Amino acid sequence: MKIKILTFLTCLLITVGSFAQYNFSSSEPSGFATATEASQMADQIVKAVGLKANFQVAEAQVSNALAVLHQGKRYILYNRNFIDALTKVTGTKWAAISVLAHEIGHHLYNKTPRYGTPTLSTELEADEFSGYVLEKMGATLQEAEAAMKMLATNYATRTHPAKNDRLNSIALGWKNAGGVDTEEEEDEQPEYSQPERQSIIPRENIAATLFFNASPNNTYYVTKRLNVIQVSNQQVTMIGHLSRSNSRDYPYIISDNNGYRLYIDNSGRILNADGKTVGTIKTDEDS
Ligand SMILES: [Zn+2]
Repeated sequence: MKIKILTFLTCLLITVGSFAQYNFSSSEPSGFATATEASQMADQIVKAVGLKANFQVAEAQVSNALAVLHQGKRYILYNRNFIDALTKVTGTKWAAISVLAHEIGHHLYNKTPRYGTPTLSTELEADEFSGYVLEKMGATLQEAEAAMKMLATNYATRTHPAKNDRLNSIALGWKNAGGVDTEEEEDEQPEYSQPERQSIIPRENIAATLFFNASPNNTYYVTKRLNVIQVSNQQVTMIGHLSRSNSRDYPYIISDNNGYRLYIDNSGRILNADGKTVGTIKTDEDS
């Protein structure tokens, strides 16, 4: 099918390429093999919360799954290889269902479409919806969280919240639906690995403060050792580092642990690779 995506919400920003370390056999069962199965699954999700589908589901050449608006119509587009890979890696059909439920959440919450750049709050809203609906369909909390544990990044990006926040939203929805977690201890000892963490750092070790438009409630700093860190709940998470560049206009570069780069100009604006301002940096001398 040909759908020109005018505006869209990017969702689980992990490409199939990320799963290259796994060997997949095409004979194994998939989350939903055909678009018909995907549509039926979507109907079950929507029915589980007593609503009617306000969208169509279609297979497409997208990197994972998207909720899109095209000429006034709502679609959910998914990449079948991504769904297959996700199902095999997590070993549960609930992973694919939760991805679909997340995208459906975007459509159901956006009664008046305000599509465009995804925000962290709309992502958490869709995550909460997926947790809620999966409980209604009979998934355990672990099953409801399976896809997110595999796909989310440990720290927030420009468009997506950090894994912990997303898992918390799924758990909130799941519990609001009446779910009682018998494996509660998992919440205290997460099984997924965290980036390097340390206790809160002294003020004199901070060289600059970063403000990101997409993440207004989080605090980011550059340390004197030029590490870029996020501070939340009295804990420090290393998310990348700052380095000098050879460019006169963009003398500094922030690189994250995945090699994603942001550029800092002479006025302290932080820009992405497309030249769009995504935040500002303020050195200690500025304040
Ligand atoms: Zn999303």
